[in-house]
Amino acid sequence: MQTIGQALDRLERSAFRSRFRLSEKDRRYLEEKGTEVIRRHAEDFVRQKLAPAEPANDGRQTPMRGHPVFLAMHATACCCRGCLEKWYHVPRHRELTEEEQEAIVRILMAWIRRRTELDKP
Ligand SMILES: [Zn+2]
Repeated sequence: MQTIGQALDRLERSAFRSRFRLSEKDRRYLEEKGTEVIRRHAEDFVRQKLAPAEPANDGRQTPMRGHPVFLAMHATACCCRGCLEKWYHVPRHRELTEEEQEAIVRILMAWIRRRTELDKP
């Protein structure tokens, strides 16, 4: 995978990926839970929704709202195995390695950190 900075810059040039914003509710939730809890949620979502060789409902497993990590998954193209393959050249139909899962969590958390700054009222 590419560096996080490179990945986020590339995503910024996509009209679809760059339109995601944290809502006020999302920002409040992030503040209440704190970074460590949110990181654990991100790890759980990646393990459950992306890591299996054949994830359930692949392509539609990530809601468009309801948790800031879901937004981050869409904004960073880590929402399904098709997008992971297209954007990061991670092959489908095999389980993700621990390293790949960690790399995805780092990108998700980097996006959340960046948006938290940019979306401040
Ligand atoms: Zn997707």
